[in-house]
Amino acid sequence: MAERDGSIWYNNEMVEWRAATTHVLTHTLHYGMGVFEGVRAYETAQGPAIFRLHDHTKRLFNSAKIVGIALPYTAEQINQAHIEVVKQNQLQSCYFRPMAFYGSKKLGVSPAKDDVNVIVAAWPWGAYLGEEGMAQGIRVKISSFARHHVNVIMVKAKANGNYMNSIMANQEALNDGYDEAILLDTDGYVAEGSGENIFVVRDGVLYTPDLSVALAGITRATIITLAQDLGYKVIEKRITRDELYTADELFFTGTAAEVTPIREVDGRSIGSGKRGDITTVLQQAYFDVVQGKNPQYQHWLTYINQA
Ligand code: PMP
Repeated sequence: MAERDGSIWYNNEMVEWRAATTHVLTHTLHYGMGVFEGVRAYETAQGPAIFRLHDHTKRLFNSAKIVGIALPYTAEQINQAHIEVVKQNQLQSCYFRPMAFYGSKKLGVSPAKDDVNVIVAAWPWGAYLGEEGMAQGIRVKISSFARHHVNVIMVKAKANGNYMNSIMANQEALNDGYDEAILLDTDGYVAEGSGENIFVVRDGVLYTPDLSVALAGITRATIITLAQDLGYKVIEKRITRDELYTADELFFTGTAAEVTPIREVDGRSIGSGKRGDITTVLQQAYFDVVQGKNPQYQHWLTYINQA
């Protein structure tokens, strides 16, 4: 990643990609106290457009508030930084990584008085779980690691350190020959994927875990709106592991993962064992929206050429 051409927005300046570095004694590198986002821009007929930029920036500020990081920029500046990196790097579509992290002034546990740095980087990135997975569905495993308890780590914050739990789960799933993990909460109910929310389809109705222990996914919210507008019923409720095994269809949602069908859980084939019909409809609806093909949801797009 470090050896690329282009520039990164770094503390309100555009910095050459390879020069966008930090010291090894950076506080966040040691303790994981930072917040970040994952955002995408898609190619549309009117040039690149960022999907739900304002919602992502709002969540970045909420994450910072939850963990107690004072962001030194306004939401408007962060939004503008996204637009600048697309323009300067001449990207048609990309994944963005905005992140706020503490500096290297001191290394005690308390980060008080340390600088808060902010970056917005962007680069082209294809299907997170693979093109084949998008068409055929992926194979997942229930993790032996539970999702964080709500009063151990603040799960509503997209905070750097939270992702050790995701990495442990994902690593275990990959080592066992699966594509991704599903984490249960500490009571044993389905929470989410390592970097995705999850949906169950049964008898034409969509179910998704309530947000007690899952990140408030922006793709999740998008899919709920699209599904309801298409006439599907969506119910948020506690979901058990065995309900996954007997689902008609399952899929993950996420900015990186987009809408990824799940065809197998713990060695059990889900529904027809391939991408389900409702998943296919929603996946197509999602791509139409992010690519600016649906006039009903233009308000979710920030067109670079008009910004
Ligand atoms: N859960 C976790 C743990 C995630 O990391 C992500 C990715 N941000 C999601 C869910 C999906 O969120 P979104 O749709 O906003 O990308």
